[in-house]
Order: sequence, then C-alpha cells, then structure tokens
Amino acid sequence: DNQTTREKFLKDTKIVLASGNEGKLRELHSILSTLGVELISQRALGVDDADETGLTFVENALIKARHACEVTGLPAIADDSGIEVDALNGEPGIYSARFAAARGTSFANRDEIDAANNALLLERLQGVAPAQRTARFQCIIVLLKHAADPTPLICQGTWEGVILDSAEGTNGFGYDPLFFVPSHNCASALLDPHIKNAISHRGQALEQLRRCWPSHL
Ligand code: IMP
Repeated sequence: DNQTTREKFLKDTKIVLASGNEGKLRELHSILSTLGVELISQRALGVDDADETGLTFVENALIKARHACEVTGLPAIADDSGIEVDALNGEPGIYSARFAAARGTSFANRDEIDAANNALLLERLQGVAPAQRTARFQCIIVLLKHAADPTPLICQGTWEGVILDSAEGTNGFGYDPLFFVPSHNCASALLDPHIKNAISHRGQALEQLRRCWPSHL
C-alpha cells in the first residue's frame, strides 16, 4: 500500500541539507534520525552557498534548497531564520545574520559577527522601555523533492521573547544572549540546549517537518 511504499522510499532516500552549518546538521540529524533517511551536508557534496536574494524567509529557504537540488540531483532541506524586533519595525528580519555587516565592517569569524550584531541591536534599542522591546525568532524549513518541485513542504516556527538591556549566558549562538524567554524567565543563552531545541522556533519547525514529511514525500 501507499504507506509501505513511502516507508520504503524514505529508507532509501539521501537528502542534502542546504547549509554549511554543522550545528544545524546535528540538530536535524537528531530529530530526523527516526525516519531512517540519510542526511548529507551540502558541503560534503561540494555545493557552494547560494545567494540569499529573497525578501522573505520562505524565498531564501527555497533558493538555498533549489540550488542544492540543482547541483546534486537529490531532494534538499534548507532553513532560513532570523529575529524580528517590533520597535525596529521587524528589523533585522531576513538580514539578521548580516545586520552589523551592512555597515561595511568585515569580521574574522562567527563569534565576532554575533558580538557585532548584538552590539548594534542594543544600540538601536537604546532608551526603548522593556514593554516595547518585544521580539520573536522565526524559522522556516523547506523540503524540495527536486529542483522543479511545485509543491515544496514549508514548515514554520515562531518563538516570542523580549530583548534584554545586556547580554546573559553563553549557550546557543547569535542573538541568544539578548533574547529573554518569558516562559523560562531567563535569556535563551542560559537555557540548556535540549530545552532550547524543544521550544525554539527551529525546534517547532523541525517538529512540523518530522510530522508532515512522511505523508508529503
Ligand atoms: P541563517 O538562518 O543561518 O541565515 O541565520 C539567521 C541569523 O538569525 C543567525 O545568524 C542569527 O543571527 C539569527 N538567529 C537565528 N536563529 C537563532 C537562534 O536560535 N538564536 C540566536 N540567533 C538566531
């Protein structure tokens, strides 16, 4: 029957993860391992990074996934994520990774980029009262069966929080030290990684992917 055919297909399927980020690959592996598919990072297959020219998280995720499909001929998964700050009219949004770099500075590594992004966010929110510092992380994960797939699976997760006045904690990455999580009464960078993965925007999108994937392929 259909169910068995699908399960068989999943077992034999290799899927490219359209991201060079080993951390994301690890998170995806742990969540999707139950499905028995083989996830391969695009870097391992020699795929270069696509230009993120879209204006939405969805477009950028699709651009990355389509590029990986085109180069490898395999199905691909890609994600795009960022933070929306209400007092900044949703900035930095899709430009979250490139927020401080937009000022023309160049950085040596990811830690320097994160520090500069966080410093700029604090600067832009100077004098903004706590009640106006609401924000949310957004994550889109897409699954494209092939480069011309007209019905990609699109999953979304949203995580609400408040931007702190100063950094707290060393877990996670990016804006985690400035992202206060009301439900746990601390910054995201103070959360145990398992807890963050269970409740975060990326965790939610991945859970959707895990739930919807078998019936979609
Ligand atoms: P990308 O999805 O790799 O293009 O990057 C999105 C950017 O949004 C990251 O570089 C971070 O600055 C930010 N971001 C996305 N998810 C998180 C998160 O879970 N914690 C902290 N920052 C994040």
